[in-house]
Amino acid sequence: MRVLAAALALAALAGAAHAAPPSGVARATAAAKDARTWRRAHERAILEEFVRFLAIPNVAGDRAGIERNADMLRGMLERRGLAVRVLRQGDAPPIVVGDLAGPAGARTVAFYAHYDGQPTDTLSWRGLPWTPVLRAPSGADLPLPSEAGPPRSGGTTSIDAEDRLYARSAGDDKAAIVAMLAALDAMRAASAKPAFHLRLVFEGEEEAGSPHLAKYMADEPALLRPDAWLICDGPVHQSGRPLLAFGVRGTTSVELTVYGPVKGLHDGHYGNWVPNPVSRLAHLLASLRDEQGEPTIPGFLDEVVPPTDAERAAIAAIPAVESGLRAEFEIGGTEGGGSPLNETLLRPAINFRGLRAGNVGDRASNTIPTEARASIDFRLVPAQTPASVRAHVEEHLASLGWTVVSDAPDSATRVTHDKLVRLEWGAGYPAARTPLDAPFSVEVTRLVAAAGREPVRTPTLGGSVPMYLFQQGPSKPGATTPAIVLPIANHDDNQHAPNENLRLQNLWDGIETFAALFAGLEK
Ligand SMILES: [Zn+2]
Repeated sequence: MRVLAAALALAALAGAAHAAPPSGVARATAAAKDARTWRRAHERAILEEFVRFLAIPNVAGDRAGIERNADMLRGMLERRGLAVRVLRQGDAPPIVVGDLAGPAGARTVAFYAHYDGQPTDTLSWRGLPWTPVLRAPSGADLPLPSEAGPPRSGGTTSIDAEDRLYARSAGDDKAAIVAMLAALDAMRAASAKPAFHLRLVFEGEEEAGSPHLAKYMADEPALLRPDAWLICDGPVHQSGRPLLAFGVRGTTSVELTVYGPVKGLHDGHYGNWVPNPVSRLAHLLASLRDEQGEPTIPGFLDEVVPPTDAERAAIAAIPAVESGLRAEFEIGGTEGGGSPLNETLLRPAINFRGLRAGNVGDRASNTIPTEARASIDFRLVPAQTPASVRAHVEEHLASLGWTVVSDAPDSATRVTHDKLVRLEWGAGYPAARTPLDAPFSVEVTRLVAAAGREPVRTPTLGGSVPMYLFQQGPSKPGATTPAIVLPIANHDDNQHAPNENLRLQNLWDGIETFAALFAGLEK
């Protein structure tokens, strides 16, 4: 027996010696905990750097301000031991890339954020957009960390996590950059390193519509075609839980003009005989979508890929926000046949942006107007494209007897065609989705949860960003690169608006989330 027991004990020891290294989730949990401890001891230093970064004006069109931001970013990355490349396309705001090399053969995971911000309506701010202010929930201005002296209450956590930092880009999107860099500091303090090639990619003209992003990516495939992307931008879920968005809707738009008589006509003399363009436009618009918002253009839904089981399950798990939103928006009902908000976002949308025809109220006259105009935007889902939407709309209008033109018609065209409509199509781009059950999606979901809170997963944001560009894969033809949106800002951060702000707890949580991902993502 004694021999057997000794043998068992030896075997157990041997087993322990050969135990697997900690899993990604275990590493992530430990890294998030370490990051919290480190952050509590360094809040002032984190905020000091953040405040200096926020004090530099950062509208994409402001060349001098953008260059100062890029310079500061370069310094922030170099101080942390990252290899920095500043990519340029002519006079466009540069993309700043920071690399932390992993072991040979490891994959590259890139974390994207943008350092530019929306132009501001300075007069509407309480204070100034590029003069950062720390403010208590009561609304009282507080001393900035650099001037604040000793901790308020003497504890290790000297700054109230409900305080907010007010400045342009505090939430959108410099917070993500500061959180990533603080997470790296925390990891270094714990002597931990990512197991993969970590790449930070900071764009400087996102708020201007990323006009050079496609060209940057095409010209720098080695740097801008990683194996996977995390797009760190936007606000977390309204419930306050972390959010992972696995896709976005695409977009396109059109301006329609329906033509009536070449001059306004007395409707008593000519009504019922001269076609009324307002009435014709109303019929046209009514043929595009039904009262529930469902597109009724034949063929329009043909390309729509039905939601996967994983997408349906994720939607079902999203906390309900509908009754609160109905009250907030003061609407007595919804479109979509009673479906919850996030389910309706899986469908394409046809939105009437506006109408212009004749006059109303005091300015109304008994006239048949000369033309009627509408402006429409479309939100696309996989696998619709701007070109397929255009083809379906134009075919549909032709089948209803409309003659579609793209320029203003001349007299001969007006006389020879009864139902004449001019379509002016805007630019657009397709939707993008990363499957929720793709290995990278599953890995990221587990690691974000390991940082402490289960993320809300949504298959798609309702809005549009050119995520398809990020998905255009590195090497393998036909393969798409996984891309997931991971925001950290509070949902009420006033992004794009006056008094943009970041709730400090969101910054602290973001640091832990990034630390969990940096430490937990596998090779
Ligand atoms: Zn943004």
